[in-house]
Amino acid sequence: MNPKQASHARWRGGGKGCGVLTDVVVVGGGLSGLMAAERLAREGLFVTVVDRGEPGAAWGGTGLVAPVLDGTAPDALWDLVDDAVRRWPDWLVDADLEEQVPRARGLLAAAESPFHRQELERIRGRWQRRHPAVDWLTGSSLAGTVAGLGRHVEAGLLHHDALRVDPHRLGALLAASIQGRGARIRWGTPALALEVRGDRVHGVRLPGEILPGGAVVLATGAEAAGLWPEAAAPLPASVQRWTSVTLVGVAAPRVPIAGRGRMVLPLDSGAAALVSVADGADYRGAPSAAGLRRALDAADLLPAMAEGRVVGLASRLTPALPGGLPLLGGWPGLEGLGGLVAAVGVGPHGLTLAPLMSDVVYALLCDVPVPFDLDPFRPDRGED
Ligand SMILES: Cc1cc2nc3c(=O)[nH]c(=O)nc-3n(C[C@H](O)[C@H](O)[C@H](O)COP(=O)(O)OP(=O)(O)OC[C@H]3O[C@@H](n4cnc5c(N)ncnc54)[C@H](O)[C@@H]3O)c2cc1C
Repeated sequence: MNPKQASHARWRGGGKGCGVLTDVVVVGGGLSGLMAAERLAREGLFVTVVDRGEPGAAWGGTGLVAPVLDGTAPDALWDLVDDAVRRWPDWLVDADLEEQVPRARGLLAAAESPFHRQELERIRGRWQRRHPAVDWLTGSSLAGTVAGLGRHVEAGLLHHDALRVDPHRLGALLAASIQGRGARIRWGTPALALEVRGDRVHGVRLPGEILPGGAVVLATGAEAAGLWPEAAAPLPASVQRWTSVTLVGVAAPRVPIAGRGRMVLPLDSGAAALVSVADGADYRGAPSAAGLRRALDAADLLPAMAEGRVVGLASRLTPALPGGLPLLGGWPGLEGLGGLVAAVGVGPHGLTLAPLMSDVVYALLCDVPVPFDLDPFRPDRGED
């Protein structure tokens, strides 16, 4: 069955527990890990999240819950992301966060060249089939939506319903919520290795101790390779580096403007951010001059941004996998890896996918059928 036909109701467990499985270790306290932990804690499992970093260090990003914006993405990603977008409102309700998570709406994809315009026209067809609240804008309707666009932007695709949340606020709410459901979060705690005995994982090794768990969820983001099971095919991933520059003293646009690999983003504080994304070739953990230059170039989309006062510079990594497909599922064919599930979001869709991934984690660990084909996302898919 295609994900868009999946019935959400089948995925709801009703908090009745999960058979013999009672406790789970989630490695990674980013938004994927916290949402998986929330889903499992909601079902009555005892969950421990371990993260090597400080609280909140990973809760960043532009916060868009939006369909695919890449004409070259495979169908499997389109379907998965579409299902994830539709799942978000239900997830907020199910997680008791609907009232607490402020959401803004709208996203303008700006055509930056004639070629890019053709790509967006194709994307427009796909968006409109699945998300009706979409308009193709030119001339005065474009200028009326966002004033002051760069002269090279002659058309744009406006998605009225794309959501935007504050990832940091969402992370803080999630952390509080799962602790309220009895989960533990251990910040500053690196998982060093999987604890494998017999045909299953039985927890993770931490410095000086073994943390037991009937199952382990790998939600390790860009560091997924660090805890990758030795028996499995190597992870075919590199990383994408995102750089963002925060500006004040300029009028932020009404909606985020996404160009080609760059974006102008209104922030809840009233400030604006210029964001760029680059592939792994010039990978660096910290902001670099090249990343900064690319981010500043995003002001081409809205030239008034160039007058802003720079008050922040940050860079973050997400994993980059072939086709932009996340790592979602287990390693069923590999001896010793029962009870291990990967939930690693990729590139610009990690936040959007996280509630759907949390449902899949729950389904796999609790023997609930997953009503679509997980094959394209299998973590053991190797290089093919
Ligand atoms: C600038 C930027 C903009 C983005 N914009 C969007 C967007 O608009 N929409 C969208 O859907 N997505 C977006 N994303 C992606 C999204 O933010 C992430 O994919 C999402 O937050 C989920 O991340 P994660 O939890 O999978 O990984 P991460 O946030 O990277 O978290 C992984 C965590 O695992 C921990 N960890 C790793 N290894 C270990 C270990 N061995 N032991 C213990 N802890 C470990 C790390 O410390 C980290 O906290 C964006 C990303 C960036 C960087």
